[in-house]
Amino acid sequence: MLSYAVILYLILAFTWWSVLLFIKNRDAFRAKAELLQLVTAAEGRYPTEEAFLQSPPYLALQDKYYRQEWMILGEAAVFVVTLIIGIWLINRGYNKEILATRQRRNFLLSITHELKSPIASIRLVLETLRKRQLPADKADQLQDSAIKEVDRLNKLVNDLLLSARLETAYRPVFEEVDLTQLLREVADSMERRFPGAHLHLQTEEAVLLPRADRLGLTSVIQNLIENAIKYSEGPARIALELSRDNREVLFAVADQGIGIPEREKERIFDKFYRVGNEDTRKTKGTGLGLYIVRQIVLAHHGRIEVSDNQPQGTIFRIWIPV
Ligand code: ADP
Repeated sequence: MLSYAVILYLILAFTWWSVLLFIKNRDAFRAKAELLQLVTAAEGRYPTEEAFLQSPPYLALQDKYYRQEWMILGEAAVFVVTLIIGIWLINRGYNKEILATRQRRNFLLSITHELKSPIASIRLVLETLRKRQLPADKADQLQDSAIKEVDRLNKLVNDLLLSARLETAYRPVFEEVDLTQLLREVADSMERRFPGAHLHLQTEEAVLLPRADRLGLTSVIQNLIENAIKYSEGPARIALELSRDNREVLFAVADQGIGIPEREKERIFDKFYRVGNEDTRKTKGTGLGLYIVRQIVLAHHGRIEVSDNQPQGTIFRIWIPV
């Protein structure tokens, strides 16, 4: 509010000074014209008013006056435009700063949570195993859950490292990749990790990419499927589509989950960006997944698009040139 008040004051003050300058300039012109008329009348030149108004000295004075008027107008316009651009830039920077601070806070909260909760559950499992003699099936169950937590930690650390590397030192290792096979492998491992999820695969046989980074694309497929499961309420129903024409390969993941509001669609690919607020959010995550996905797709000279699914949910589509 204060900054807007100062800005308004600046613009009003400047407008006022311009008007004042205008009036002063006009007064000065009139005074000079009167003086000139008196002098020329005393010398006996241009005795009548009409003759004076047509005389070269008066016309020169008038010409100078008009030029000065334009100069004041021009400078006022340049100043106001510069002021407005400056204010707009400051405002934009300020808003970006607020957004970055919120993201940093969100990131810290989610990272702390993502690190602390698996560590706490692994510790609990280990303590339980040490204190009590459990039946073999119970012990297996506990160990399985500890392994899951370790996997979660591992993924988090890998994501953090990968996202840091993507900015500076990401070197994709290009080789021929059979995307159909890769997709089947990832989908199988996802179905094992999330037994409630239902993945429906629609793919052509052996969609080959002659130059692709296997690890990178694995991460892309994993992240998109995991998001589709994570942001579905109840058992997830996900359609995976893989096809190719002679120019590019299309990979699409469609869910029937909570969907993404229109205004968030551009920002979800930003590093650490998560929709909503960390204090109220129920899902786990760091906001790194889609950032990683986009960077890897770009490294393959591909493109990614997000749209609404019908009747609800989200579709992510990726095109990679062959
Ligand atoms: P994370 O899942 O760790 O929060 P991502 O970068 O993978 O981070 O996703 C960023 C945000 O985009 C998520 O927080 C979520 O709000 C939104 N999002 C991503 N995928 C989906 C999806 N399939 N359905 C609804 N929202 C999604």
